[in-house]
Amino acid sequence: MTMPRRRTKIVATLGPATDAPDILEDLVRAGVDVVRLNFSHGSSDDQEARVKTVRAVGRKVGRDVAIMGDLQGPKIRIEAFASGRIELEEGQEFVLDTAMDPHQGDQRRVGVAFPDLVGDVAPGDVLLLDDGKIVLGVESAGGTEIRCRVFNGGPLTDRKGVNKRGGGLSAPALTEKDREDIKLAAQLGYDFLSVSFARNAADIEEARELLRAAGGHGHIVAKIERAEAVANIDEIIDASDVIMVARGDLAVEVGYASMTGLQKSLIRNARSRNCVSITATQMLESMITQSSPTRAEVSDVANAVMDGTDAVMLSAETAVGNYPVQAVRTMGEVCVGAEKHENFRRAQNFRMDDAFDHVDEAIAMASIYIANHLEIEGIIALTESGATTLWMSRMRSDIPIYAFTRHVETLRRVMLYRGVYPQSFDVVHMESSAVHRNAFDLLIDEGVLSPGDFALFTSGDLEGIAGRTNTLQIIEVPAGDTA
Ligand code: PEP
Repeated sequence: MTMPRRRTKIVATLGPATDAPDILEDLVRAGVDVVRLNFSHGSSDDQEARVKTVRAVGRKVGRDVAIMGDLQGPKIRIEAFASGRIELEEGQEFVLDTAMDPHQGDQRRVGVAFPDLVGDVAPGDVLLLDDGKIVLGVESAGGTEIRCRVFNGGPLTDRKGVNKRGGGLSAPALTEKDREDIKLAAQLGYDFLSVSFARNAADIEEARELLRAAGGHGHIVAKIERAEAVANIDEIIDASDVIMVARGDLAVEVGYASMTGLQKSLIRNARSRNCVSITATQMLESMITQSSPTRAEVSDVANAVMDGTDAVMLSAETAVGNYPVQAVRTMGEVCVGAEKHENFRRAQNFRMDDAFDHVDEAIAMASIYIANHLEIEGIIALTESGATTLWMSRMRSDIPIYAFTRHVETLRRVMLYRGVYPQSFDVVHMESSAVHRNAFDLLIDEGVLSPGDFALFTSGDLEGIAGRTNTLQIIEVPAGDTA
């Protein structure tokens, strides 16, 4: 009866291209669900100004978006060249030197801002610069120098990233700067905090503890971008609320050819462990400079949707691109197109062999099972923390899941969950006899339910307490005010 609504969520990175309030407004109207603010760029004042603009735009448009802060992490970089740019020739020697003047790099050597790098590499290792465009073979490492042979040359400019193929760099996930930025994330009330270059569950737990100690409520996103993270993936997923398949650095560490298969297994693993996933990086890269995507990019976004990702992410396309609003629109259209593909619409496998740990988890699974097998137009979940809707959204379905909640944090958090739509609803200050009527009226007003439709309703008998969902009802939406 109603038009299909996009289920896959869109994360858009903010930057200079989105700073004008009218562009940000257009971006939100175009369908962005979560904005990402990168701690790698800009000052704390810039972050604060952007947060204020995002919240103001949300109020104006009448559609709040969630905010994700992305920690810089221990990204290892070369320092600068005296000339700003060099050209490396295949076969030449090139030295990375952790002690040299950081501004005096030249054709033969350049500084590196991570002194431990020398101890982390050995002859035979391969170092990748500038997202893998420059490939160096390590010949010797000692003192302050790593002497390399250039395997793949080309232009190289200041402050480009350094990765080691196969991983194994010892840098801890949280730098001093990250620890300060976590306090800022708490102060600014970020809904999500992304931990860059996480290696294991301990990195995630530490970030969560620091955020909570600073008074932050945000959920933790583990960026999977190190080979070590792939090796420790189960414990990382269990410690995190969300994983991001951060394909930029990940592809450099594990090799491009492994990337696509790895993406599929990461998304599947996250879903099966009740974790949310974001697929990121270069999804519509050509739209930084062109107003329409390549067919390969369309296919990449669609495949991530079919893999079951909760969200797809735009990076430079929105942060510094010439067509940020078109990029969001394009991404939305591609997602809706991919979601129509019948093979991917409804789950067949309902965790038949699993034992559920919680009553509310069992209710969530039963609800989505019923919804997928009966003519149901929507699931209405009265939820405090959003957990019931998270469990529901782990199973494939084309039935909308409405998270009715009185908590602004929950409203924003569920914006990242596939197929879940937030509805502000204060069940605690409402006559219990009016709850169904009020909920239906809201969705009828939005044009997503009509009298005569069947809806599924989940709730607890102690409203206002998290984890108490114990009831599932199938209700025919009554006409007018006669409920
Ligand atoms: C990535 O490396 O793919 C990624 C998402 O990280 P960032 O955009 O922060 O470099």
